[in-house]
Amino acid sequence: MLNIRKDFPYLKSKELDSIIYFDNASTSQKPYQVIEAISNYYAYHNAPVHRGIYSKSEQATTLYEESRETVSKFIGADKDEIIFTKGTTEGINFIAQSWASYNLKPGDEIIISKLEHHSNILPWIRLMQEKDIVLKYIPITNNFELDYKAYTKLLSNKTKLVSITSCSNAVGSITDLDFIIKHAKVYNAKVLVDAAQTIGHRDFNLKNLNIDFLAFSGHKILGPTAIGVLYISKDMQKEVRPYQLGGGMVLDVNDYDFISLNPPNCYQAGTPAIAQAIGLSQAIKYISDNIDYDLLKKHESALCAYLIQELSKFDHIKILGPKDQLSNSGHIVSFVSTLYHPHDIAFYLDQFNIAVRAGNHCAQPLFKNIGINGSVRASFYIYNTFEEVETLVKALNKLFRK
Ligand code: PLP
Repeated sequence: MLNIRKDFPYLKSKELDSIIYFDNASTSQKPYQVIEAISNYYAYHNAPVHRGIYSKSEQATTLYEESRETVSKFIGADKDEIIFTKGTTEGINFIAQSWASYNLKPGDEIIISKLEHHSNILPWIRLMQEKDIVLKYIPITNNFELDYKAYTKLLSNKTKLVSITSCSNAVGSITDLDFIIKHAKVYNAKVLVDAAQTIGHRDFNLKNLNIDFLAFSGHKILGPTAIGVLYISKDMQKEVRPYQLGGGMVLDVNDYDFISLNPPNCYQAGTPAIAQAIGLSQAIKYISDNIDYDLLKKHESALCAYLIQELSKFDHIKILGPKDQLSNSGHIVSFVSTLYHPHDIAFYLDQFNIAVRAGNHCAQPLFKNIGINGSVRASFYIYNTFEEVETLVKALNKLFRK
């Protein structure tokens, strides 16, 4: 898998002086195949989609719709269940505003968890504030995993939605989605999965899971920014209103009413992110051609295991996350030191050209829950190497052994 590094200009750029990039949970680097697909589109295919009668517009439409097809096959959905968004954040807001806001009534309950990214918290807080929806949190255990027993006690006939991350971006814990879905469905609750940290890292097929809504971001899986995917199951499309209104989503308009197109077009008003969709499709092709998910899991978790082992030698370091799970199947290691502020560690590592993330990782309720302001987070992907983690460990040893 490692011979793919040559495909990533960012990783071998002289200007960047061999950067060691460990901020993949935030965004991934792009292979030149994706970069070229985007520039080729603008150079040779640029035209509006779905509207033009001329052949260039039809070509652009074909490329754009082929991208939807590529995405649908990648996650095991039907083409018409794929809606292009700006990213995970927009996907979740979409469902909050276009489904939950219209279908839930005061007193109905939504369950999320203490592991969520702000994108899967704030839209529900607003619903709670404005529509009197009750918001409940699945707590976490001392080992930073979801408290599944507590979850089953939160569920009731009032539960209308369980909106859950498949993997915590802050501490790396992986959700047992089978368990969450199975128990939600006993109460006929709908399930939204924030798959931002799972798609492109682990084998994932919607056909094996009874999920109603799913959101992820293209930029975290080798694709461009400003493109994401929202899956809305065929059944749920009957209940989800168009998110935005305007050109491209309407069949017929009169002075005082209109008739929307069928899904997915009714959910995509305005000129879409055509080049980005094509770039995402190329990223997915790249992943399909180059990633063996079993190998990737072994590779990423071996990097986690090594880093956890080395960090565990220091008394002042605490790993935030389920160490065994991360060492077997994770891609994120989050840690704190009682001696150094996370920002100071990240700033220090930057001198060695090592990019890690420091802060609360858009998960303030989680950090408040564990009584810590933030952490240092190293997150791995397809192109990271054991030698890179060794360099990180050496740099940290130098700092900690001063
Ligand atoms: N959910 C999770 C678990 C994430 O890790 C992120 C980004 O880090 C998001 C949601 C938000 O993604 P985006 O900023 O691409 O919309």
